Amino acid sequence: TPGLYIVATPIGNLGDLSPRAAAVLEAADLIAVEDSRVTAKLLRHIGVKRPMTPYHDHNADAVRPGLVAQMGDRVVALVSDAGTPLISDPGYKLVRDARAAGHTVVTIPGPCAAIAAMTLAGLPTDRFFFLGFLPAKAQARAAAIEEVANIRATLILYESGPRLAACLRALAEGLGDREAGVAREISKKFEECVTGTLSSLADRYENAPPKGEIVVIVGPPGEAPPPSETDADAALREALTRLP
Ligand code: SAM
Repeated sequence: TPGLYIVATPIGNLGDLSPRAAAVLEAADLIAVEDSRVTAKLLRHIGVKRPMTPYHDHNADAVRPGLVAQMGDRVVALVSDAGTPLISDPGYKLVRDARAAGHTVVTIPGPCAAIAAMTLAGLPTDRFFFLGFLPAKAQARAAAIEEVANIRATLILYESGPRLAACLRALAEGLGDREAGVAREISKKFEECVTGTLSSLADRYENAPPKGEIVVIVGPPGEAPPPSETDADAALREALTRLP
């Protein structure tokens, strides 16, 4: 059936491409891609050659109408470089416009780094809040963290290796020293998930920025251990000094 097909692709291990995703890519008249080199590698893996057209943050507004116009009589697949399109990736406006034009919209679900990381961390999963990438600049990042400090849910965010330690430190400051996990290179050779308090993780990565792709998972408020008696004494002394 003609229309728009949102196709999730692997976040590392090419074996994670589902048979249904492969079938849709094979049947596609056109594949809208972020980076044609990345998608070409995936297509080679399944022995498929289909026309690709770039669809990324910089050209999306210009090319969207043309893509939507083709969905009436052609199978248009949307992929991103990795994982589920639309999740910290372009695509939502394409879906919006495809719907507005009355086209069929189908999703082919599959890998998503945020969800995969949460399954590794061992933190509560009943309520979660996805933050995507926090701002890179310290002040904007602190403001973004403050905005979510009172949300009673596990937080999920994407981060890069060089910024990880500073990000964990800012999270500890803004949220309190909660339990957290750093998931790295999911589904790849060096997959790992390190858990601990935000400050212990910040210490760990301070002078050893990790390589590869990273998801940070932060437990909800109240997960942190209760303050020790010595902390309480110190807090009391501190409070007394402030009394008039
Ligand atoms: N659409 C993708 C998804 O569904 O997960 C996310 C795209 S976003 C531009 C890329 C970020 O996702 C990376 O910077 C990293 O934070 C995270 N990521 C992607 N692949 C990953 C992997 N294999 N392991 C850990 N994190 C990953």
